[in-house]
Amino acid sequence: MTLPTDPVANLAALIRCASVTPAEGGALSALEDMLKPLGFSVERPVFSEAGTPDIENLYARRSGNGPHLMFAGHTDVVPVGDESSWTHPPFAAEIAKGEMFGRGAIDMKGGIACFIAAVARHVDRTGGPKGSVSLLITGDEEGPAINGTTKLLEWAAAKGEKWDASIVGEPTNPETLGDMIKIGRRGSLSGSVIVNGRQGHAAYPQLADNPVRGLLSLVEGLLHPAFDKGTTDFQPTNLEVTSIDVGNPATNVIPAKATATFNIRFNDTWTAETIQTEIHNRLDRAAKRKKYRTGKKTPVDYELVWRDRPSHVFLTRDDRLIEALGGSVQAVTGRTPALSTSGGTSDARFIKDYCPVVEFGLVGKTMHMVDERVALADLETLTQIYQRFIEDWFERGLPDHAFVG
Ligand SMILES: [Zn+2]
Repeated sequence: MTLPTDPVANLAALIRCASVTPAEGGALSALEDMLKPLGFSVERPVFSEAGTPDIENLYARRSGNGPHLMFAGHTDVVPVGDESSWTHPPFAAEIAKGEMFGRGAIDMKGGIACFIAAVARHVDRTGGPKGSVSLLITGDEEGPAINGTTKLLEWAAAKGEKWDASIVGEPTNPETLGDMIKIGRRGSLSGSVIVNGRQGHAAYPQLADNPVRGLLSLVEGLLHPAFDKGTTDFQPTNLEVTSIDVGNPATNVIPAKATATFNIRFNDTWTAETIQTEIHNRLDRAAKRKKYRTGKKTPVDYELVWRDRPSHVFLTRDDRLIEALGGSVQAVTGRTPALSTSGGTSDARFIKDYCPVVEFGLVGKTMHMVDERVALADLETLTQIYQRFIEDWFERGLPDHAFVG
């Protein structure tokens, strides 16, 4: 039986499945075909929720006597965009000048292809790790993310699955393989501030209450002063106003209502709850300021509406895991990876509730773009890094506590 030791072949098989979110597109079947010969037992639970598409997911485990390492990722991909702009078709896995083209090459079928090749080489060479390896793969990362990782973790945990560490294979390197490991993520929260005014004639402002003036005060209160200076592990907390809407087509009418929407990325100085309180306090203080509202006695009449669920901030402090991965990157590439918490949120924010988690994958430059592509050399390098990491992590064992089975 041939084992899936070649990441290029693994990736080609995955790219040829058009698994544009939420479609499975054959991608999970392709994974199953790779994993079964390696001794994995494979399950493919489908999760549903009203108002969202049903999603098929995959959980595969190769059991052994020792600690349990979980690799997490997703096989769904973003849409191709303007297909005619691609120089190679998005689902053909064509190779040109040492690069493989295709949607998901980087984000993140490439990472999965390399991890499977790494496990296959390890199994081929040693008979397999001294412990358990599992793959937790969702088809709902690029979509609403409702029927994906969160439910898959709950489902697996309910069956008694426990993990000692996890690695997420999302693209983490900005320029070159070996640049960056992610050891945490900032939290994220979005909200809208709606100011209610009184409509009127622009020439008679004393008879109206212009909500734009109130909104300016509130937006200023949101932006200043800075929330914090950042921490050893995190950038400063940052708030961006992402939209200001008045919806007023007339130039001589004072509108009745104005809305500003914002997104805040916060570090571990805050929790989702304390940052919400801070936002409320800032708005209440700003509502009383007169700067843009001379002659108005009442505070600005506003409502604050939080949008979506907050993403919680987290930081992984498992030195053994970070050192095993960092050491493997260094040994294979000769580069010392930065330990970063920058960038957007990822599914690691859900995994952190179950076990320590780090993220390392390919170079992210072309993800989500037309002509998404990966250097074949990077696929080989990442496979070697993952293989070394697997060997090193299992070699280190878990001296602090007993294996969790
Ligand atoms: Zn991704």
